[in-house]
Amino acid sequence: MAPNKSLVNSKSFPFLGKAKTIVLKIGTSILIDSKENLIKTKWLESLVKEVVELKSHGKNIIIVSSGSIALGKKILNLGSKELKLDESQASAAVGQIKLAQAYEMSLNLFQANSAQILLTSEDSHDRRRYLNIRSTIKSLLRLGVIPIVNENDTVATDEIKFGDNDRLAAQVALTSGADLLILMSDIDGLYESDPNLNPNTRHFSVINTITPELLRMAGHAKSQDSKGGMRTKLEAAKIAMNGGCEMIIADGSKNYPLNNCMNAGSKYTRFVPKNDVATLRKQWILSIKTRGKLFVDNGAKVALENQKSLLPAGVLDSSGNFNRGDAIEIMSIDNEKLGQGLSAYSSAEVEVIKGCKTFEIEKKLGHPGRIALIHRDDLVLS
Ligand code: GLU
Repeated sequence: MAPNKSLVNSKSFPFLGKAKTIVLKIGTSILIDSKENLIKTKWLESLVKEVVELKSHGKNIIIVSSGSIALGKKILNLGSKELKLDESQASAAVGQIKLAQAYEMSLNLFQANSAQILLTSEDSHDRRRYLNIRSTIKSLLRLGVIPIVNENDTVATDEIKFGDNDRLAAQVALTSGADLLILMSDIDGLYESDPNLNPNTRHFSVINTITPELLRMAGHAKSQDSKGGMRTKLEAAKIAMNGGCEMIIADGSKNYPLNNCMNAGSKYTRFVPKNDVATLRKQWILSIKTRGKLFVDNGAKVALENQKSLLPAGVLDSSGNFNRGDAIEIMSIDNEKLGQGLSAYSSAEVEVIKGCKTFEIEKKLGHPGRIALIHRDDLVLS
């Protein structure tokens, strides 16, 4: 039966209520029945109900889900032996269809749309791809869609593989500006040693710094289908914490996994970042070397002061040689620095669209462009 607790008003688990954008990482072990290698449909339905409830409270939800390899292996009758890299990739290609379909069907029952995003680590290291992923995810969230992300196992090779969806989920959290990442697997947090072997071992409820000692303590991968162990979870925590995102390791194995986190006696480990996402992003934008300047009119100056994005219409002139994604300075007509931000256009494109109204951009460029020249999320005022 569905629990009747509110996910966003819990005192014992206040994180969902506070966060605006939440990444839920679903491990293979909780989504796939290990004997049958089939999706646990009741469990998935219960998760989807929780996701829909969070959405109804205005939360943005992104799901990073494993499970394609386990599902594909079953369909291809590859038995229980350890898979070679090419067999894993083939299994992932076959299983990913089933995985995406299962999410799509469950979310559709609640009139919620889903989208499939497959990524490799290279995608988040290449600046232009990173910006494209970021803006696609933001658009999907704005349109009320729930992105379902997995590693693009078919193109990822040994050297470029994230290797596990824990770190992938942390990268996705930072790329999408999420303020909360929950790694849901079959363990309720970080222990000093393996709790299956040492039932009295110490459980950590809060971690503020990932020390080398903690990393040494963490074990390795547990099963051949799920690549992550406690070690990769701690590496994910490092990425998340450095990027200003709170991370939680929780046991998601029971139906209604998020509700279960709120039950009296439920344990989890919380990894606390030093700064929030917005502050860190501002610091980062200010730390990048600027490659050019935009000179804007008084209308644009007022719009910026009112937390609006900078549109081409307010730009009078530009200087410097910059690409899309580079940092540039924003100057008033009196040559006073108003702020700095990441440009959505190259300097050559700015020359073509400066002063243009939004509806004129496509005609001028010969292809559709972005509305904002510098989006307000990519902007820091002086
Ligand atoms: N991408 C793999 C899959 O979907 C899983 C990787 C992991 O478990 O971390 O099967």
